Amino acid sequence: MEDPRRHVPRTDAVLAEPAVADAAARLGRPRVKGVVAEVLQACREGALTPAAVVAEVLQRLPRSSTSLRPVLNATGVVVHTNLGRAPLSAAAVEALTLAAGTTDVELDLETGRRGPRGAAALEALRCAVPDAEDVHVVNNGAAAVALVARALAADREVLVARGELVEIGDGFRIPELVESLGVRLREVGTTNRVRLEDYAAAVGERTAFVLKVHPSNFRVEGFTSSVGVDRLASLGLPVVADLGSGLLAPHPRLPEEPDAASALRAGASLVTASGDKLLGGPQCGLVLGRGDLVHAVRRHPMARAVRVDKLTLAALEATLAGPPVPVAEALARRQPQLQERARRLAAELGGDVRVETTDGRVGGGGAPGVPLPSAALSLPAALALPLRRGDPPVVGRVRDGRLLFDLLTVPEAAEPTLLEAVRRARAGGGG
Ligand SMILES: *Cc1c(COP(=O)(O)O)cnc(C)c1O
Repeated sequence: MEDPRRHVPRTDAVLAEPAVADAAARLGRPRVKGVVAEVLQACREGALTPAAVVAEVLQRLPRSSTSLRPVLNATGVVVHTNLGRAPLSAAAVEALTLAAGTTDVELDLETGRRGPRGAAALEALRCAVPDAEDVHVVNNGAAAVALVARALAADREVLVARGELVEIGDGFRIPELVESLGVRLREVGTTNRVRLEDYAAAVGERTAFVLKVHPSNFRVEGFTSSVGVDRLASLGLPVVADLGSGLLAPHPRLPEEPDAASALRAGASLVTASGDKLLGGPQCGLVLGRGDLVHAVRRHPMARAVRVDKLTLAALEATLAGPPVPVAEALARRQPQLQERARRLAAELGGDVRVETTDGRVGGGGAPGVPLPSAALSLPAALALPLRRGDPPVVGRVRDGRLLFDLLTVPEAAEPTLLEAVRRARAGGGG
């Protein structure tokens, strides 16, 4: 018997194959070399023939040099934290791709001098919220709260209702964040109720502002009361409203969800919010409101430590000034149309696929508990794992032993991908 190892190709020869060399140019040589070494080892052990080496290398290589994978969100949760919150619009994706090279983010091309950083994105935000005298953008919503607290209340006190001491996720808590910056939080009221008099009684010499935190991920029901921004404003102190979700104006489907324009009109001095929740843009934090306060925030030394990058500024501008974003499109989908789509897709798939009515959710720190009536494809739950492992992975939710693909979060353009994924998962024996 001839020893098959004698025919195992050399690493350099495999790396020189045109398709492999192309991949090395795209993905980086060390990564490709690692995969080649693995495959050659398998070849030496007799697990594959020398002729199959190149194909196997190409098969095992990742598609791109990020290990993050695009996932089809069929959960019915519009802003899904574990799936990266808001998906960007095609316009925003294009904008950040263009900004990724060298760009005029801080250069005035007319004068050749330094220009204001991200002026166009800030202008787009100002136009979107005319009630804001000035605006500033930082890295994320938590950074916006932190910067405002530090710039306006260092070594002083901030009043906040006990029922608004919010944990925003992954163990992080707004009150602990604020206190970590040397700001004393003075809690007023009880867990379920607070009155204007509670605030009034707590106001002292050291009070810098009143913080109103939107309970964006829970609801308190029953014997409750809270004090709105309009009445807090009557205390004569600045009111900072941390809205979380980032709605800039009222949304007809989410009547209870606070928005920046209404909060400012009601008397908030500043509003803070996230860019990647209901606004549907990139991760960032918005600060909007009174000109003097925004100025103080922008010029505070810590502002530099939470500065937003050029990719984000580009994507934010496109989100604000460009075509409707995927989050807005999802919120516009209505149950009758979703049911019709579900019936059509179920008919194409046949077999054990059924249609169920569902309630989608905003998710991700917005409109907690508000149902968004929707429709889903219902499949055997055994398909959940193979579909998550597919390419692209499709993520749904399992209810009563069935895998539900909720169409609220699936654009029509993604239907062929969804059908193909289900067919492949079935063929693989998943159910
Ligand atoms: C989400 C949220 C935050 C934090 O915003 P990030 O963008 O996640 O940093 C702060 N406050 C409220 C009320 C929120 O809902």
